[in-house]
Amino acid sequence: MAANDFPSKRAPFYKDVPDEQWFDWRWQLSHRLNALEDFEPVLELTASERKALSSGHLFRVEITPYFASLINPDDPNDPVRRQVIPTDLEMARFTGMMEDSLSEDAHSPVPGLVHRYPDHVLMLLTTQCASYCRYCTRGRIVGDPNATFTRAELDAQIDYIEKTPQVRDVLLSGGDPLVLAPKLLEDILTRLRAIPHVEIIRIGSRVPVFMPMRITDELCEMLQRFHPLWLNIHVNHPNEITKELAQACDKMTRAGIPLGNQSVLLAGVNDCAHIQRKLVQDLVRIRVRPYYLYMCDLVEGGGHFRTPVSKGIEIIEGLRGHTSGFAVPTFCVDAPAGGGKVPVMPNYVISSSDHKVVLRNYEGMVSTYEEPLDYKPHDPTTCPYCQHKRVEVGQGGVFGLLDGQQMTIKPEGFDRLHTRGGGTHRLRMDSDKWKPLGIGDTGREEE
Ligand SMILES: *Cc1c(COP(=O)(O)O)cnc(C)c1O
Repeated sequence: MAANDFPSKRAPFYKDVPDEQWFDWRWQLSHRLNALEDFEPVLELTASERKALSSGHLFRVEITPYFASLINPDDPNDPVRRQVIPTDLEMARFTGMMEDSLSEDAHSPVPGLVHRYPDHVLMLLTTQCASYCRYCTRGRIVGDPNATFTRAELDAQIDYIEKTPQVRDVLLSGGDPLVLAPKLLEDILTRLRAIPHVEIIRIGSRVPVFMPMRITDELCEMLQRFHPLWLNIHVNHPNEITKELAQACDKMTRAGIPLGNQSVLLAGVNDCAHIQRKLVQDLVRIRVRPYYLYMCDLVEGGGHFRTPVSKGIEIIEGLRGHTSGFAVPTFCVDAPAGGGKVPVMPNYVISSSDHKVVLRNYEGMVSTYEEPLDYKPHDPTTCPYCQHKRVEVGQGGVFGLLDGQQMTIKPEGFDRLHTRGGGTHRLRMDSDKWKPLGIGDTGREEE
């Protein structure tokens, strides 16, 4: 195992803490740093941090002693420090800032359940985390100890999933599901597993990163009873990859849990292709597959972390081809107002004709792919999967155009605008004149 290749750190202030306490997650949780005085013995605060910590209005601060130990106390710009210790830059407002920039609450049929995509839902189980990221996308609900989800709300979430057969994948998030009381988490997993149409369960958690000691054998034994269960962690910088994290990931992968990583592109933390390359290479060494690299959301307090979108394109340019393909995450902008995740990447298609595509590779070499001149299109009338798709629930979209489900997607009010205030007149009477004779390539009967 690669664990010994990664450092184990403990800030000098904690050197006399007995191992039984240091490696006990309950001790880590109850010794988190949050007030000004807690920080003083561990590192020297800057004026900006001091101002932020004494303002009293900020998004919640909590840092486990383990995670605080990863900070180089002499570096005010330390990439771990910047993720968890607030500065007064958090108080800055910026164009586009929103409380709920992804419109999650608008996509929630019941509180805490976000049903944005056709076949998978996001279930928010708690508002609590082991530590709090300064750029939290859910700062509007996360952190408040008096505003977590009630039993009745969790019941309503499960009830919705039970009644919605199109949901085959349930993503548990929050807050952090792994800070829930183990019995409650087990109870929720049991109830989800009892729903026949729920094929997979996913957990999104930063607990392995903030508090790897929480990943005990007992927890892994519990989780592995609910397979297929996948888990995504959240690492942003190679300095977060330690011996302890490597051991926690090893335990989880041995319990059969496939691990992924979601990171956020953050100015001053990881906005560099070289840092990102080291990050993804170290992740795959601990058997964690880089999954997404997110653009930082337009949330309060997050303005100073934002980069141009092109920084993400540059990073993918620096990864694809330059390192193992499975180490390259998908760079995504989670588009505001409920636009959802939009993948963004460099352009590799340079040109095309009716039988050639001109491509460039990561080295800038330009080459041509000759396309077949005798391609026989896939026949949906004999394909059992195409025959099935009618019962599957999709949301159309651009694929719906290709698939022959519809011919256009129109902006709201398009038809009304284009009548230009005129009424129905003799040339507009015949409504069938806009009805195509089928919409191509589906083999589907006309309706
Ligand atoms: C990110 C997200 C998911 C999961 O999306 P995947 O692309 O399947 O990882 C589900 N629901 C919401 C609302 C999300 O933001």
